[in-house]
Amino acid sequence: MRNVRLELLPSQKKCAENHTVTHSTLDVKPALPAFLDQNFARVRLTLGGFRLISRQFTLVLSVTTIKSNLMSSTNVIDPVQVVTKDIQKEASPESILALLRAGNQRFRDNNRVARKNSDDVAATTGGQAPLAVALACMDSRVGPEAIFDVGIGDIFSIRVAGNIVSPEALGSMEYGCGVAGSKVVIVIGHTRCGAVNATIDLMGKDAKEATGLDNIASITGPISRAVDQETSESDDRSSKNEDFAIRVTELNVLQTIKDIRAKSPVIDKLASGDDFEIVGAVYDVRNGEVKFL
Ligand SMILES: [Zn+2]
Repeated sequence: MRNVRLELLPSQKKCAENHTVTHSTLDVKPALPAFLDQNFARVRLTLGGFRLISRQFTLVLSVTTIKSNLMSSTNVIDPVQVVTKDIQKEASPESILALLRAGNQRFRDNNRVARKNSDDVAATTGGQAPLAVALACMDSRVGPEAIFDVGIGDIFSIRVAGNIVSPEALGSMEYGCGVAGSKVVIVIGHTRCGAVNATIDLMGKDAKEATGLDNIASITGPISRAVDQETSESDDRSSKNEDFAIRVTELNVLQTIKDIRAKSPVIDKLASGDDFEIVGAVYDVRNGEVKFL
């Protein structure tokens, strides 16, 4: 037996509450499909399936997917940290969001997973089953894989200035959710967004004429609706007013979600069901934190 200490996430503890879990430390049998490295563990447990044996008790969890921080390890199993079709199928939107939250916390704590990239590449050669579709700004500081500490095969990423939704982005999202099986859409804006700030400062002007950029209005046009929606600020409606700009950023994320649901019946229908979530978030470039809206 390889001894691996896992810390269960709150949702996982809840799943195990019908069992006599006296603490969150488990020893994992090597026969388990446990994908571990020194810093991280993802263990898949299925109904009536794999048996975990701790030093103190035997536990059979009727749970789906577990991805936990590995607190310490006396032995290391080769890491194959990829999402499989089975893991995707059994994951709940809540567990996926918990995964993203935990990943952002690791990112902020300088505790990102040390991945064995060649194994991840090899394990995903045959296909992918991403858990989520992220729509984020193109800003170089806001890469979803980085800020959520996820790896190869874990999420789809769509990037466009101002995290607005174009027909191309929507088509990509529909594929990700409707065909490839992702269960979460997360729209990610961020503080100090150049696209949002430019839109704020270009209100009432011809964006192309003012900037010399032939296509910039395709970005500032959609975002300008969020500027219009922010009605609480009457004095300083410039991008220098950071609180105002952040409120516009949040409204722009929410507007993008409305656009997605209005323009994609497929995603709207999924989002109306129990096994799908569409959420907004704002990443703060000042401290690395993702705030969910
Ligand atoms: Zn941006």
